[in-house]
Amino acid sequence: AYRHRATFSKLVLVFAASGGGLVAYADARADAAAESPGVAPKKKVVVLGTGWAGTTFVKNIDSSLYDVQVISPRNYFAFTPLLPSVTCGTVEPRSIVEPIRKIITKKGGEIKFWEAECFKIDPENKKVYCRSNIGTNLEGNGEFLVDYDYLVIAVGARANTFNTPGVVEHCHFLKEVEDAQKIRRSVMDCFERATLPDLDEEERKRTLHFVVVGGGPTGVEFAAELHDFVSEDLAKLYPTIQDLVKITVVEHGEHILTMFDKRISRFAEEKFQRDGIELKTGFKVVKVSDKTITMENALHGESSVPYGMAVWSTGIGTRPFILDFMKQIGQGNRRALATDEWLRVRECEDVYAIGDCATMSQRKVMEDIMEIFRFADKDNSGTLTVKEIQDVLEDICIRYPQVELYLKSKQMSDIVDLVKASKGDVKKEALELNIEEFKNALADVDSQVKNLPATAQVAAQQGNYLARCFSRMKDSEEKPEGPQRITKMGRHRFLPFRYKHFGQFAPLGGEQTAAQLPGDWISIGHSSQWLWYSIYASKQVSWRTRALVISDWTRRFIFGRDSSRI
Ligand code: FAD
Repeated sequence: AYRHRATFSKLVLVFAASGGGLVAYADARADAAAESPGVAPKKKVVVLGTGWAGTTFVKNIDSSLYDVQVISPRNYFAFTPLLPSVTCGTVEPRSIVEPIRKIITKKGGEIKFWEAECFKIDPENKKVYCRSNIGTNLEGNGEFLVDYDYLVIAVGARANTFNTPGVVEHCHFLKEVEDAQKIRRSVMDCFERATLPDLDEEERKRTLHFVVVGGGPTGVEFAAELHDFVSEDLAKLYPTIQDLVKITVVEHGEHILTMFDKRISRFAEEKFQRDGIELKTGFKVVKVSDKTITMENALHGESSVPYGMAVWSTGIGTRPFILDFMKQIGQGNRRALATDEWLRVRECEDVYAIGDCATMSQRKVMEDIMEIFRFADKDNSGTLTVKEIQDVLEDICIRYPQVELYLKSKQMSDIVDLVKASKGDVKKEALELNIEEFKNALADVDSQVKNLPATAQVAAQQGNYLARCFSRMKDSEEKPEGPQRITKMGRHRFLPFRYKHFGQFAPLGGEQTAAQLPGDWISIGHSSQWLWYSIYASKQVSWRTRALVISDWTRRFIFGRDSSRI
């Protein structure tokens, strides 16, 4: 009977206020309390997403302290940097994924996982609405509610089409493993179709025209992979049509890979030219139909090109249910969920956002600086002593690493030099400075501060940081380690999140990679390709995927890529 009571309390059925119908209510707190009467239930941490941010969080949180529940429509973690390699069969899809349940099991099995997507967040009642995509639960509609004490949103982003007509209907995206598999099949479709009899030359050319929209790292890497696949493997198998193949990269900006150093961007453009990959920089795609892509250029006006397959890779946008949530909490005018430096969603208690769905809000840099000033200017005189200014600066630098970089790099104004040089020895009166003056000196800080890039590196570091904070929540209450709070008394419990950049790679095909490492150290060529192989092998989440990826690379070296259309 006791067992039955526990099970019953697990699934309490309630009528959902929205969404219609019955919704199963997964109340694991009741479950925990029933299992251990008299013991306070653990706080419930609900994690949405099993990507870079969510998985790193789950891997690093001390799961003995919390009741951790993970919800994601994907029951695996995918190593996204190798997705372009999956599009052409250099690496097999299963080699870059790790089941989330394996990751959880390694932690002692205390973490629960539900394969479902969240479609609504109710921050007032601390609940998330979820829907299973793989069938139904008890009620038949697959929907259920989960309540939380802390919510960690790590749902990533979706491809951004900028509402360009025809993109969703006719272009491929490259965000998920399924996308990469579809691209692989579609490439082979194009080759097989182009060899069919009774096709005229123009139609064959059109079918073998591959267009990549977006000259960022993903688009460039895919174009390079495709070029290698064609020249190293398909040319031998389709000798009669190999000369008809054309790859075009369309980029709205003046150059490709603009987030890299100019030398890398230039090298990539020259290499693509040598490889026969056409670069259409300064062109904006305005419409896509089933057979043509229409683009605009300031010089040439509008033009249409026939194509056989197109991959759209122009950046990321916010998921619709996150947009709804943002409107709910007054962030409707933003592009991603704004968090503070502790990764807490602004104006939303106990909700955290990490990875591509979030952005550390810089809108408040100047506001915070002024708050800190007001706090420091205790006598309300409108002036601060050197010591006070030093404290303010220190505080700003702890809160905003980007500002610290800015202060270091930009040779701050006379005021900062004066403050630094004085070291507090000079007479107070001589050094009292007007707040307005100081404010002016920092006036362009807001425009200088850049948002963190949407990369796996950022997402993983945020997941790791947040997990450490959660694991040390109790200790840090007794021994806070963060900076002074601006408005309230006392210190923050934790130091703010700080991103450490370890460099970035741009694989360019032909066993050549460009690497931009910390300190603006640039390396381009075959040696960087080996660095890329070793780093990407070492970064795999498990020994299983590491072994599979390395064996895929070896297989490709020996036997080439597989061109079967399965
Ligand atoms: P994701 O990894 O996208 O994970 C989001 C998770 O949320 C997924 O598990 C998803 O299923 C889940 N989810 C989605 N909707 C819901 C919902 N409604 N409810 C619950 N869960 C949901 N970065 C680098 O640093 N280096 C690289 O070389 C690199 N290469 C890349 C190549 C490609 C092709 C792509 C697409 C990206 C690449 N990136 C790279 C970027 C990197 O993959 C992302 O920045 C990173 O994945 C962001 O992590 P995330 O956890 O925020 O999101």
